[in-house]
Amino acid sequence: MKINYRNATIFQIIDESPSVKRYFFKFPDSDPFDFKPGQFVMLDLPIESKITNRSYSIASAPNNDNIFELIIVLNPHGLGTPHMWENFKVGDQIPVAGPLGKFTLPNQIENDLCLIATGTGIAPLRCMLHHIINQNLPHKNIYLIFGSRTFNDILYYKEMQALSSKYPYFSFVPVLSRPDEKWTGEHGYVHHVYERLFVDKRPATFFLCGWKNMIMEARERLTNMGYDKSQIKFELYD
Ligand SMILES: Cc1cc2nc3c(=O)[nH]c(=O)nc-3n(C[C@H](O)[C@H](O)[C@H](O)COP(=O)(O)OP(=O)(O)OC[C@H]3O[C@@H](n4cnc5c(N)ncnc54)[C@H](O)[C@@H]3O)c2cc1C
Repeated sequence: MKINYRNATIFQIIDESPSVKRYFFKFPDSDPFDFKPGQFVMLDLPIESKITNRSYSIASAPNNDNIFELIIVLNPHGLGTPHMWENFKVGDQIPVAGPLGKFTLPNQIENDLCLIATGTGIAPLRCMLHHIINQNLPHKNIYLIFGSRTFNDILYYKEMQALSSKYPYFSFVPVLSRPDEKWTGEHGYVHHVYERLFVDKRPATFFLCGWKNMIMEARERLTNMGYDKSQIKFELYD
């Protein structure tokens, strides 16, 4: 299958944590970059690899403009992300394909949404959340359960705290697997949190994103709770 790329320019890079960067891209034409919240793009990289593209979920919401944000974690054993860390700088033009993918919001949000992420898996869920808020889409309660190792690994922490203070329907629940003694929030993995929040097994749609182990376990636990496969959407990063 031939992949169509067009160049986008990096116009800002922000260090979100020691191993995670936010990259902001702009397409040269002024046509809006039209995508559905939850979709991803592929970057083509000049790396010595049979497959030279790498997929990244769009972390920003569609905004009728030609910019988008990615949030990327360094994999020191990989090929693509070390290349980005060493070479990507503001002003570079990168071949981008997409939008791609079917990990998207339903046309109508009729039930509670439970967004569950680990690491940079927060990207498409952040995009969905902002889209719902920006477009004032009808919705019920929204929960974002976010698993990280330490406090410093919680991506978009201040932003999510601010949103949960502002919107009573939105709950942000960071869960740390290796908290320090000052942490008073949830600890362990994400699973006990959604099992508790949805102990009544009320109708809900679950969006799971991140690394395989979390997603496989969550799918099994949610199915055991009685949720149907159609209510459990997921995007695997590995
Ligand atoms: C739909 C989708 C969306 C995604 N969105 C995001 C996102 O928003 N943010 C994000 O950070 N990531 C995201 N990912 C993951 C991303 O696509 C990459 O897999 C990730 O960035 C690692 O890329 P890399 O090139 O650094 O590692 P790769 O080169 O792909 O290597 C990955 C692993 O393979 C092994 N490996 C590589 N080369 C060899 C070799 N020659 N021999 C043996 N083992 C080898 C290494 O152990 C390494 O850890 C997404 C993935 C998918 C599928």
